[in-house]
Amino acid sequence: MTGRPLHAMTVDVEDYYQVSGMEDRVCRSDWDQLESRVERSTDRMLSLFDDVEVRGTFYILGWVAERFPRLVKRIADAGHEIASHGYWHRLVYEITPDEFAKDITDSCDAIYTACGIRPTAYRAPSFSIIQESLWALDILVENGFTDDSSIFPIAGHDRYGVPGSRKDIHTRKTTHGPIREYPPSIARFGKAPVPVGGGYFRLLPLHLTVRAIQSIEKKHRPAMFYIHPWEIDPQQPRVKGLRRSAAFRHYIGLERTERKLRRMMNRLSFGTMTESRKDADRHQKKTADKRSDLNASISR
Ligand SMILES: [Zn+2]
Repeated sequence: MTGRPLHAMTVDVEDYYQVSGMEDRVCRSDWDQLESRVERSTDRMLSLFDDVEVRGTFYILGWVAERFPRLVKRIADAGHEIASHGYWHRLVYEITPDEFAKDITDSCDAIYTACGIRPTAYRAPSFSIIQESLWALDILVENGFTDDSSIFPIAGHDRYGVPGSRKDIHTRKTTHGPIREYPPSIARFGKAPVPVGGGYFRLLPLHLTVRAIQSIEKKHRPAMFYIHPWEIDPQQPRVKGLRRSAAFRHYIGLERTERKLRRMMNRLSFGTMTESRKDADRHQKKTADKRSDLNASISR
């Protein structure tokens, strides 16, 4: 990191009907019958990333990997980091530890079969590792995961958040060993904490998201940004009967998102989660070296 941090760009690869806000309208047993858009919208995302020369971390749903293995291969071949978003997109706090272990294993098997890479980074559907489901970290480590990005350091959200948890990349202890946690970023507008990415990115004017990321830069930390392929697909079929809040969250700003994303990636620097962490580590080391040089010259 010379002056400005390399922020983490992450994509949760799932279809428009697999989001948690549609769970009560779309049964998992119907997924195979619905018009799938994930391949074309992810390809669009890949071509955008190629244009702006950004590599990202792609959290792929096992269900998608099993049905579209060539898509997974294209993501890997383009140099992006391959990670797991589970298999069935089930909220971690709504399943048992055994079900969770099977879900992550099935997802890794599908991704490995598709591209020959076994993911070691995980993001829970809707960031559903909360205080009550922290046990999931033990199971992740037990199954060979080294990195997680599922803990939102925010209070007052209906579906996710561990209030008061750390906002920087940090290591957490589990009974099976350590795991690195990459929390999604939060910006403050006045007193209100606002997540950086997803629906909030679509809702807010671009300059506010850029300002939010710049405020994180000022703390010499990289930001963690997240987006989904369906968010750049305004033509996706509309799911009927959604609750008003779920429909608002899902459909707001779809027409503008691809353009906004392109402009944001041209203004700020992004990379994979691993690239972003290594860049931050280099910066920290450089700052520490400078400080010790200064101390040495003062004591001379
Ligand atoms: Zn998801």
